[in-house]
Amino acid sequence: MNNIVNNGKFLYASLNRFDNHSLVSFFNSLGVKTKVENDNRVFPASDRAEEIISALHDYLHKSRVEIKFNSAVKKVLAVNNRVSGVIIDDNNKVAGENVLIATGGLSYKHTGSTGDGFRMAKELGHFIEPPRPALVPLVAGEKWVRQLQGLSLQNINVQAVLREKVIAEQIGKLLFTHFGVSGPAILKLSSLINKCLPSSLALKIDLFPSTSTTQLDAQLIELFKNNHGKYLKNAVSDLIPPKMLPLIQTFTGIDILKQVDQITREEREKLACSLKKITLTIKGARPLNEAMITAGGIDTDEINPTSMESKIVRGLFFAGEVIDVDALTGGFNLQIAFSTGYLSGVSINKNSE
Ligand SMILES: Cc1cc2nc3c(=O)[nH]c(=O)nc-3n(C[C@H](O)[C@H](O)[C@H](O)COP(=O)(O)OP(=O)(O)OC[C@H]3O[C@@H](n4cnc5c(N)ncnc54)[C@H](O)[C@@H]3O)c2cc1C
Repeated sequence: MNNIVNNGKFLYASLNRFDNHSLVSFFNSLGVKTKVENDNRVFPASDRAEEIISALHDYLHKSRVEIKFNSAVKKVLAVNNRVSGVIIDDNNKVAGENVLIATGGLSYKHTGSTGDGFRMAKELGHFIEPPRPALVPLVAGEKWVRQLQGLSLQNINVQAVLREKVIAEQIGKLLFTHFGVSGPAILKLSSLINKCLPSSLALKIDLFPSTSTTQLDAQLIELFKNNHGKYLKNAVSDLIPPKMLPLIQTFTGIDILKQVDQITREEREKLACSLKKITLTIKGARPLNEAMITAGGIDTDEINPTSMESKIVRGLFFAGEVIDVDALTGGFNLQIAFSTGYLSGVSINKNSE
């Protein structure tokens, strides 16, 4: 639950009914062997995503489910707030008493998630919490980030600060890009702050989270002593990533071609502070199409959490990213899709009895 960013409570029933263990057992029962990697992430032992697709395809085939490939649903039909079928793209009506909208969000459109589900649910009277990019790289205002493009920093601490207040924090890997910052720590942070965007946020990067400023200053004193007569940029080259060295002047105002013996105590302390608080202005997130997840979606107040059925239209169900739920990285979004999909399926079966 700690990894679910929005509307975690809504997911209690579905995650309870079909949790991560059930999902692994399900795939194992279909003959897919699994393995557990770092952070308890589960993958097919073969490392082949196609194995999952083919196992699901065979399962549907055995269960005599008819699949219509390359047939986009254009509209969900309802009469007197009761589902009656769908219109597919050759304008054919397919009658049915239950319809499950599992069309995903608006991210990575080439995968087929074009936001149709939001439109169709809205046409049927549902409120859509406006879609926002989540698990997405962030755009920085400072031009100097371009100089750091490609620089990857491990185990750094990154804080999002809004009006002097830390609103979210992550430790992990950060990657500088030509537009700003990315990498696992930033993607997670983006999910925690996207409701505050596009208001200008500050991002504070601590290169040495497990070292206090005083300890870092002591390290600098030692380095300066051992590098007597050398330029600052050469003296600190083992401490600071080489790409970042030319930016020391931007961060601190200290000339990197100054000899360490000439650096004043104030300058040295300022350097220690700056390395623990590199500050960026966040102008916003990259667009939805570049976001791993679409936050926002069908209002959870309008869906029954114990069945996934719409509270507005009988026979209408929702599953996955189309719902206003989202989680951090780690397989949690896929689990949400499988759990809500499973619960919808069980409920539809019950409706059809
Ligand atoms: C690059 C990337 C990496 C990711 N990595 C992870 C990860 O490691 N772990 C994790 O948990 N999550 C990850 N996610 C997120 C995860 O993939 C999604 O949350 C999950 O797939 C959502 O499942 P869904 O079934 O709701 O939607 P989707 O998987 O988006 O599926 C929706 C389907 O509906 C179809 N569709 C859309 N409109 C229509 C229509 N009108 N008619 C018929 N069909 C339609 C689409 O073609 C698509 O096949 C990642 C996402 C991306 C983009």
